[in-house]
Amino acid sequence: MLRICLNIIKGEPVDIEELGEFGLIERIKGSFKSRDRRLLQGIGDDTAALSTAGDKVTLLTTDLLLEGIHFDLRLNSPYYLGRKTLAVNLSDIAAMGGIPQYFLLSLGIPRHYPVEFFSEFFRGLKELSRDYRVSLIGGDTSASAGKLTISITVLGEVHRAQMIGRAGAAVGNQIFVTGTLGDSLLGLKILQDSGNPVQSLRKFPRVVLKHLDPRPRIKEGRLIAEKGLATAMIDLSDGLLADLSHLTREIGLGARLWREKLPLSNYYRRNILSFEKDRWNLALAGGEDYELLFTVDRAKVEPLKCLSSRFDCRLTHIGEVVKGKEGLKVVDEKGRPHKINLSGYDHFRTQVTF
Ligand code: ADP
Ligand code: MG
Repeated sequence: MLRICLNIIKGEPVDIEELGEFGLIERIKGSFKSRDRRLLQGIGDDTAALSTAGDKVTLLTTDLLLEGIHFDLRLNSPYYLGRKTLAVNLSDIAAMGGIPQYFLLSLGIPRHYPVEFFSEFFRGLKELSRDYRVSLIGGDTSASAGKLTISITVLGEVHRAQMIGRAGAAVGNQIFVTGTLGDSLLGLKILQDSGNPVQSLRKFPRVVLKHLDPRPRIKEGRLIAEKGLATAMIDLSDGLLADLSHLTREIGLGARLWREKLPLSNYYRRNILSFEKDRWNLALAGGEDYELLFTVDRAKVEPLKCLSSRFDCRLTHIGEVVKGKEGLKVVDEKGRPHKINLSGYDHFRTQVTF
C-alpha cells in the first residue's frame, strides 16, 4: 500500500493498465539484458534472432491468442481460428525477411469444450501449415480454468546478410506498404454489427476474410530480403501509425505519410463512412492487417517497383522518413497536416494516442 502511495506521489504508473503493454515490455527488456554473443536480436523486434552455424540466423517468435481478447467464438469459426493462429506468427517471420520452418502449439482448454471444435481448428491449422511448409514439432496441453488460450511459437531461418530488423531506417528513406490498410478492422466491425459470420462472409467476403484469414506476406518478405531492398521492416499488427512509430520514433526519427496515397480497397472506400466518422481512421490505426511496412533507400525505389510485379498483392509508396523533430505527420494532397486523433492498439491501455 505504502509503495502504491509513493508511486502515485512520484507520478509513476500504479497498475498495468496505466503502464501499458509497451511500458511493461520496456521494463522487462531493461531487467533482462543478455550478453550472449550469438543473440543478434532480443526483445524489441518482430522475432528474436540467434546466429547459428555459418551465416545462418534462427528466428523465433511467439504469439498468444486469447478467447475474449483476440477472438470471439460467436464471430469466428474454429477453422479460421486455426489458420489465423499460425498466420499471425508467420507474419512476424515475414517481417524479418525469413523462411518459417517449424512450430510449437500450446493449448489451455476449458473442460467442456466440444471435441468437434478441435477437429475444425486443426483442419484450418494443418491447411495453413501445409501452404507455408511449416511442421508442427511439439507443444503443451492443459486444462484451463478460464477461457480458451492458444499459443504458437514459430522457428524460422534467414541468411544473416538478408535479415531485416526494425531499426535500420534513415532520413530520406521512402516508406512502402504491401496490400491494403484498414480492411481487417472494418471486417471485424461488420462481423460485430451483424453478429452473423456466415451472412457477413457471404455479403462482404473480402474484408471479412481479411480479418478472419489473413495471409502472411512470406513471399514478399523473402523477395525484399533477397534483393536487399529494405532498411527496416515490420508487420502491421497494431495499426499503421503505431507500427510506423516502431520504425521511426523509437530511433529518434520522424515520418511523413501522404494521406491520399494510403492503399484502400474499393470496399473500404465505398463503405467506410457507414462505420466510422473519419474515413482515414481505420487505415491509419486499424490493427491486424498483417501487411509489411518497410523503409527503402531512395536509390532502391525503382528496383523495388520492378520487383513488385512478382508480389501477390499491391505495393504502395506511402511516405518518407524525416528528421525526428518533425514528428509523425500525415499530410493531405496539398501538404496540409491531417489532424490525427486516434490510436493504435495497446493491450492494457487499449488506446495509444499520437
Ligand atoms: P509483435 O506485434 O511483432 O508480435 P510485440 O509488440 O508483441 O511484437 O512485442 C514487441 C517485442 O517485445 C517483441 O520482441 C517481443 O518478443 C517482446 N515481448 C513482448 N512481450 C514480452 C514478454 N512478456 N517478455 C519478453 N519479451 C516480450
Ligand atoms: Mg510483428
